[in-house]
Amino acid sequence: MTDDLSRILPEPWRVKVVEPIQLPDRRAREKHLKKAGYNLFAIPSEAVFIDLLTDSGTSAMSDEQWAAMMRGDESYAGSRNFFSFETAVREIFGFPYVIPTHQGRVAENLLFSTVLKPGWIVPNNTHFDTTRANIEANGGIAVDLLVPEAKDLDSEYPFKGNMDVARLAETLQKNPGKVPLVMLTMTNNSGGGQPVSLDNVRAVKAACEKYDVPLIIDACRFAENAFFIREREPACQNWSIISIVREVFTFADGCTMSAKKDGLANIGGFLALRHDTWVQNLKNKLVLIEGFPTYGGLAGRDLEVIARGLKEVLDERYLSFRIGQIRRLGQRLIDGGVPIVRPVGGHAVYLDARRFLPHVPPSQYPAQALSVALYREGGVRSVEIGGVMFGRRDPKTGQEIAPELELVRLTIPRRVYSNTHLDYVAEVVLECFRNRQAIRGVRIVKQAPYLRHFTAEFEAIA
Ligand SMILES: *Cc1c(COP(=O)(O)O)cnc(C)c1O
Repeated sequence: MTDDLSRILPEPWRVKVVEPIQLPDRRAREKHLKKAGYNLFAIPSEAVFIDLLTDSGTSAMSDEQWAAMMRGDESYAGSRNFFSFETAVREIFGFPYVIPTHQGRVAENLLFSTVLKPGWIVPNNTHFDTTRANIEANGGIAVDLLVPEAKDLDSEYPFKGNMDVARLAETLQKNPGKVPLVMLTMTNNSGGGQPVSLDNVRAVKAACEKYDVPLIIDACRFAENAFFIREREPACQNWSIISIVREVFTFADGCTMSAKKDGLANIGGFLALRHDTWVQNLKNKLVLIEGFPTYGGLAGRDLEVIARGLKEVLDERYLSFRIGQIRRLGQRLIDGGVPIVRPVGGHAVYLDARRFLPHVPPSQYPAQALSVALYREGGVRSVEIGGVMFGRRDPKTGQEIAPELELVRLTIPRRVYSNTHLDYVAEVVLECFRNRQAIRGVRIVKQAPYLRHFTAEFEAIA
């Protein structure tokens, strides 16, 4: 196929079911914002026109997945759907021991409550927030060891999700017996959806082997990561996506997974392992918190949907449309001069709110102010990833410390929005950019002690 044709290739599916959406008028949007205390989590989804809050659990299912729902075997034990789920996971990832859970964070909870002792350390390229929370809840220390190239938002370094292997080796060497496992998150969600290279996986595994520590992959976006490997790693350019996935996972001893991402399902997850060392303990706990090991908190039909989704996500035409669609949105914004994180990652475009709104100081939450402006302008819901989500109080001075980055994430659900929808989103962002001087900072008027971004209330600063 010529490059020209691949550039204009549309969605590799046609639409069979539609769900109407509508844009409330400007007065209604203003009313919703006010009622929600300027927190987009508090706006009912029916008042949102284009919902880019998250790519988690928001995928559209295929006709085959809907058919799979009708094949649900809701037997308490030994449901046939468990066996097709287990077979799919084994075939794709190569791990014999498969433990279903209802979300990815339960896989994390099971793992860390089993293998971690207080004071022990878990290195990762960047821990996702639920991973960090589960490590810290078990008394562990979550350490992020991302390559230095990732800090430069403008650098086009192809694998900004890579782990800094030298610092990993140093961490392992200095903490003998205190690192129960090493994790690698692919793609790196908290770091902009940036991929991890196959070379890096190999090097991380070599360091782990030297110190006899298992490597567990956070596999939420395993297919998107494989697509980037094929695109950017010369040795893999003629490989199929499935062969790249299989190669990557031969270096791992297990994985945690949220099927709400690259499982193309609305709920579900799993923990899969190569060795049986932890399995009995894990299953004992599973029965306590999720259910019997052949359903783990899921209905039989959900297991069947995931088994199917894990295969569909490997379709090269699907992946190239998806990654291309997000890249296209990013390029429109770049062309309009909007500051975004580069290169564009696998599941979202991240706006750099500090440079978008240089007149709003970090203490006035520029990313929150921008995300409110996007909803006000066009009914687009994004998510703040900045001072509201990650701001911390200095224990000595009581002053709030702003995080390094103030980002607004436009997260693209899988198979849900067309390029026309995303062109509209680009126009809304560009309109806000043209009128950026009028966007004011916000202050918090109400907040919870933990995870305040979900429920905080704000007011505009005059
Ligand atoms: C979503 C996510 C999780 C947690 O999965 P849930 O299904 O939301 O519990 C863990 N790690 C990463 C990288 C994720 O994106």
